[in-house]
Amino acid sequence: MIKVVKLHANICKHQSCLNRAMYEFTDIKNMAPEGSLEASEYQKTITIGYSCEHHVEEVNKLLKEIYYGNEKSDNIQ
Ligand SMILES: [Zn+2]
Repeated sequence: MIKVVKLHANICKHQSCLNRAMYEFTDIKNMAPEGSLEASEYQKTITIGYSCEHHVEEVNKLLKEIYYGNEKSDNIQ
């Protein structure tokens, strides 16, 4: 039997831009219990945002401010 599932379009996060997102931003979250030495086994990739093709830089900057504040970080991939 053929089943039809509606896909949810992801929308660009840049201000009032409502274009359909072409890019997904992810970050690595450490889910290890406190004191665990095997942290790498608990790393989980989480999606933190989306952008259209025009706002990759702007959304990257916005997400960095939200998730890392003034702390220096590598590019969110
Ligand atoms: Zn946009």
